[in-house]
Order: sequence, then structure tokens, then C-alpha cells
Amino acid sequence: MLIETFIRKQLQLKAHTVTKVEETDECMRVEIDRLGRRLLRCGVCRQRCRAVHSVRPEREWRDLSMRKLPLILRYRPRRVECPRCGVRVEDFPWAEPWARVTTALANAVATLARELSWQGTAREYGLNWKSVATIVKRAVEYGLRHRARPPLHVIGIDEVSRRKGQVYLTVVYDLERRVLLWVGEDRTEEAVKKFFTEEMGRRRCRTLQLVCMDMWAPYLSLVREHAPKARVLFDRFHIVKHLNEAVDEVRRSLWRQLSVRERASFKGTRWLLLKNPWNLKDSQKERLSTLVRWNTPLVRAWYLKEAFQLFWTYRQPWRAEQHLRKWMNSAMRSKLEPFKKFVRMLRAHLDGVLAWTQTRLSNGAVEGMNNKIKSISHRSFGFRSAKHFIAAIYHCCARLPLPAER
Ligand SMILES: [Zn+2]
Repeated sequence: MLIETFIRKQLQLKAHTVTKVEETDECMRVEIDRLGRRLLRCGVCRQRCRAVHSVRPEREWRDLSMRKLPLILRYRPRRVECPRCGVRVEDFPWAEPWARVTTALANAVATLARELSWQGTAREYGLNWKSVATIVKRAVEYGLRHRARPPLHVIGIDEVSRRKGQVYLTVVYDLERRVLLWVGEDRTEEAVKKFFTEEMGRRRCRTLQLVCMDMWAPYLSLVREHAPKARVLFDRFHIVKHLNEAVDEVRRSLWRQLSVRERASFKGTRWLLLKNPWNLKDSQKERLSTLVRWNTPLVRAWYLKEAFQLFWTYRQPWRAEQHLRKWMNSAMRSKLEPFKKFVRMLRAHLDGVLAWTQTRLSNGAVEGMNNKIKSISHRSFGFRSAKHFIAAIYHCCARLPLPAER
């Protein structure tokens, strides 16, 4: 078989043909021309058109390499007279209208960019970083337009930080299918509103049954407004995080009151309090008991924290509620300001905290995806703009379809 025939078949050309293949030191040059008088399609609506209006100057497309040699396609695009759209550039079966690479190459690059950094992907395909960024951006745009949108029942709203917590993004997950739905710049009510109004719309909001989120988050009223039938569940992992922060806050305020000598033997013990007691070694238990003797407020904080954790184990809602109410009362009597603050927050959000016992769901289901986002942020120092970072998150976590090769 001739190489020309091979490439024509590979590219699935019907109204076009390969006239010549030329090998140079850097690449294989593939000349393409129109095949006889076969009808060409409109580049906008893909309708077959009878008349060719004019011929444009030659253009080049990068294709997948052949045994390390990049394939360059060359063709003089026709402009066709489309009955619907008027005079338009024809449709290229091998590439998207404005792309400078073929769909086959773009998809290969996009697939690799899900695993590797954009820098690494560029190196692998002999492209520059910007070309990879453009390919991913286009792939994401296509994917968002063409992705399946099944009815949603359970969603989780979370935030991710970038640049050591200077920039925040809000992410929304489908907790049933464990897939990323949406990414928003910032974590304010205003930013998250777009998820409900633009991505969801009123009709899709109606099927929502459960929204899992942090009770500290500023968009609770937004959820109530746009999905009034959905039950709000406050995320277990966030609650535990706030509880740990309360213990930490107690420790820090004690630290401020200690003398220098006392500080020396107190140092480096913080982690002892965050660990489960049954995981501690004997020597660590001893240090812990010294710590206990010294710091009754910290001990109170620590026991409060441990006692709270029982809440997650109850199966019957009334028992869970009873436990929580008792716990809140003792925490209020503890004279520990961070815990009182925590209790006030719980009281204001009690329904959504108690929802755990019946739903037993949390954003922990998508913990892996949050880690993935962190690793994207780490491997990609090139993301100076949030736009690129957002595109990369969609690309790696939203399971978007890639453009179909025709
Ligand atoms: Zn048309």
C-alpha cells in the first residue's frame, strides 16, 4: 500500500485526497487536495454545499508523529457557498475549524495532560506550553458543551486554596457519581450563586435532595433560596476540622500565659493532643500525662473533642441528638471560649448537623478528587491565572468527553 493511501485512510478523507508525501529531516509533509468534484461541507453547519466560492492560501496542521517524525498536513482551504450560512470556510474532517493541530493530535495531547503537567505534556509532543494550554482549554469548552447532564440528587460544595491560601476556588461535586460538576472563582456567596443560576438553572435544582457543605460557609442562604426542597448537611470533615481548631486555639492561648521554663517542656506536644490516645507509645503517654497534670483547660478541651466524636457512631437520630445536646451543654460550661463559639455555630445549624445520622454522607467521598486538585496545583507552577487552573481542574476531575474524531 502506498503511504499516500495509508494516510488518506487514517485521516478518513472522503471529499479530499493525499496527493504527495514528502520526507524532510524534521517532518513528513502531507499535501492534501480536494478529490475531484466531491461536495465539500460548510464549516459552520456541516451541510453539503454545491458551489465553491474561492480558494484560500495554504494552511498547515500538525498531526500525530509517525515513528518520531511529526506529520504536517498542508491544504488550501476552500470557501463554500452554504445555502444557510452564506460564504464560509469549509469543514475540515481532520481538525476543528480554528485549530492548528488535528483532532487526533489534540485528543492525544489532552489525554496525556490529564496525567502529566502541561509542561511535561508539551515536551512529550514537541509543542510549547501555550499550545497545550489552548488544546486543553478547547477540550474543556467542548466537554462542557457536550457532557451528559443526568439529574442530580446529592451534591457537595467545598473549597480549594491556591498559592498557600491566598486564592480560593469553590468546587461542586456530584457525590453520587463522584464527579466534579463546577468550579467557581472565589468562595463568596456571589461567586457560588453562578452555580445555581448558570450551571443548574431552576429546573435542575428541583431534583436536589441533599447539599453537603461546611457550616462556616457563607452561602447557606443561597442553597435555601435556589434549592428549597434540598436538605442541608454539614460536612463531617469540616466539623472535625473546626473542632481541632478549637483545641488548637485553647492550646495557643495557654501558651501565651506560660513562663519560659514551662514552655520548654511543653514544646512539641501539640500533636500528642491531635492523635488518638490508643495510637500513642508509652513514652508519649507519659508526656501526655505530664501535659495533663499541667493543663487542665487543655485537658478539658481534649476530652471534649474526644467525647464529641461519639456523635458519628449513633444509628438512631434521637440518640445522636441526645448526645449532641448533652455535649453542647458541657462544652458551654467548660469556660473555653473557642468551644463556646463552636457550640453557638452548632446550635445555629443543628438540623444540618443532625442530618448525618440518617444520610451518613460527607464530602469525604470526593476526598481523592480534592487531593488530585492539590496535586494539579503543585505540579503546575505555570498557572499564574486562575482561568488556567480552573481549566485544568475541569479537565482532570469532571470526566468530560473529548471531541469526536470524524
Ligand atoms: Zn452552513
